[in-house]
Amino acid sequence: ATPTSIMVGTGRGADLGVLFRQGTALQALQQANAVVFDKTGTLTQGEPTLNEWVTVAGDDSTTLQLAASLEQRSEHPTAEALVAFASEQTPMLEPESFEALSGLGVTGKVDGQQVLVGSATLMQEHDVALSEAPDKAGEWQKQGLTPIYVAIDAQLKAIFCVSDPIRESAPALIKALHQRGLKTAMVTGDAKATAERIANQLGIDKVVAEVKPDGKVDAVKQLQKQWGKLVFVGDGINDAPALATADVGFAIGTGTDVAIESADVVLMSDNLTVVQQAFALSKATMRNIR
Ligand code: ADP
Ligand code: MG
Repeated sequence: ATPTSIMVGTGRGADLGVLFRQGTALQALQQANAVVFDKTGTLTQGEPTLNEWVTVAGDDSTTLQLAASLEQRSEHPTAEALVAFASEQTPMLEPESFEALSGLGVTGKVDGQQVLVGSATLMQEHDVALSEAPDKAGEWQKQGLTPIYVAIDAQLKAIFCVSDPIRESAPALIKALHQRGLKTAMVTGDAKATAERIANQLGIDKVVAEVKPDGKVDAVKQLQKQWGKLVFVGDGINDAPALATADVGFAIGTGTDVAIESADVVLMSDNLTVVQQAFALSKATMRNIR
């Protein structure tokens, strides 16, 4: 490949809003057989809202206060949704301790109580019994919505319903990638049924759900064995290891710094069509080289 044509290609990319941090990525794209996507904030808008919750035990306003107070410390979009929902209804407290558990949720002490907010997996890892949980969680998942569990002192107290709509540009992108003969997959920390519902709506070939950041890496390696070279598209801290492992990593430009630093390509537009344009550009560039 001539340096000049790579330079022209990366320049064209910049005009389109696709920043190639490595010229080699422009070449590598041509060899990719598949595109693997993160879900939250990548295929979905990543600005979730919370409109509904069910209580399981205890005093509702205490549960809401403790959960929101803890989430105030988190930078996760789900946390922002919960805090926005709660802030009109309850004053916040300052947590005594806080820990973010990537891909799972948050834990910490608030008002002397151990508070846990996050996925079903997080609850299971902390021995919180979900057997008494109402069926609501399952219903929400079937609609592509995400249940977020709250436990206080290891007792399930409530489940919140978080809604994060699909990006408008996502369906056309998946279609265009398939037309290029590429396989597609979704790899997410979100609940299985929620992920499957969204993947089905988009026509994505394969889903790996309920995985933590290193689980995303395992999934990428597994898919590389199956499909060969692949592109990973993600936005979160939890995507950074997978972005580094993939043959080409694409980060959403509005995503976290860690994701951007781990990527070969940064997407400056929130319109996902640019992913397809990156492939077209790669093809055109490599054609000029030959
Ligand atoms: P994705 O892989 O789709 O980008 P994440 O890894 O960011 O998703 O999150 C996976 C799951 O972890 C979320 O669906 C949610 O259940 C839970 N989670 C992560 N962070 C938080 C948080 N701050 N509050 C509540 N739940 C969280
Ligand atoms: Mg994400």
